[in-house]
Amino acid sequence: MIDPFGRAIRYVRISVTDRCNLRCAYCMPDGYLGGETPADILSYEEIATVAEALVGLGVKKFRLTGGEPLVRKDLPKLVARLAAFPEVEDIALSTNAVLLRPHALALKAAGLRRVNVSLDTLDPATFRKISVNASLDQVLDGIAAAEEAGLTPIKLNMVVMKGVNDHEIEAMARLTFTKPWTIRFIEVMPMRQNPGKQADQYVSTDTIRGLLQSIAPWSPVDTGPLAGPATEFRYEGAMGSVGFITPLSHTFCGACNRVRLTTAGKLRLCLFGESGCDLRGPLRAGATVPELRALVLDALKLKPESHHLALGYSGPEAPITMSSIGG
Ligand code: SAM
Repeated sequence: MIDPFGRAIRYVRISVTDRCNLRCAYCMPDGYLGGETPADILSYEEIATVAEALVGLGVKKFRLTGGEPLVRKDLPKLVARLAAFPEVEDIALSTNAVLLRPHALALKAAGLRRVNVSLDTLDPATFRKISVNASLDQVLDGIAAAEEAGLTPIKLNMVVMKGVNDHEIEAMARLTFTKPWTIRFIEVMPMRQNPGKQADQYVSTDTIRGLLQSIAPWSPVDTGPLAGPATEFRYEGAMGSVGFITPLSHTFCGACNRVRLTTAGKLRLCLFGESGCDLRGPLRAGATVPELRALVLDALKLKPESHHLALGYSGPEAPITMSSIGG
């Protein structure tokens, strides 16, 4: 799958649910209940059929995301379906880890390789303020369960917000001296349903990087051809590494290797912007795998060269909620 700008698409993020057990202020606005009805949501069988079409077009990596994937029943069954494609080299999960402990071993046995966990703070009170419905201890226990199950290397994602958790940037980075984790600092992005706040909370990666560079000498880490958009560095002698995801300050669209499958079965070509095509309708009308492939290839012609998101922007390009698109 090569898009009109010569980018090879090998990575698909699948949103398996738009529901979440947390209410992180920057992601699911207060009162958000999830948008799709059960009938709108692709079944595992349907997701596996779309995956078959995509694998035949050269996709080698899937990430299950949402919403919180672990609130959907029997997730290991979907993992096993995806792992059965011999061409697939990597299956990963983005999770808040609250429910990871009871599922980690089954996920690993089904073929999941590793997890990315959202961890915005190391302070229990700040955790409750940001994420509302759970405790920091549950997340830390989920991370421990992932390690015990061998769902590694573990990546932790911290959305940095001025006045909320920016005083913890250095402490988070210092974890990498003693833990084999990659701690990734993410610029807070504007959401259409959450306008106003983001510009006040925004901290640029350049600011974070400046702070972290002064801690100790570091060198760049080669993250491989299927990697996502983070640039990573390892401090001398450290077990883990730090990474930066810079959707606003340094757009990484030129190296974009991904598309998304939404909860409701839309192929979405960019996190920001509506372009893509519906696959659920054709699927339910009996489209064959080759027919789905033709639809995907046709839609791919519309993949934009770049998004035009900017600080404080919450217009039509900003996602309504990350959860149904698969943040
Ligand atoms: N529930 C899973 C989790 O917690 O990782 C997967 C879904 S969540 C939407 C995926 C990632 O999107 C998380 O790392 C989250 O912090 C990030 N995210 C959500 N809203 C964001 C925003 N406004 N700006 C930056 N990152 C955001």
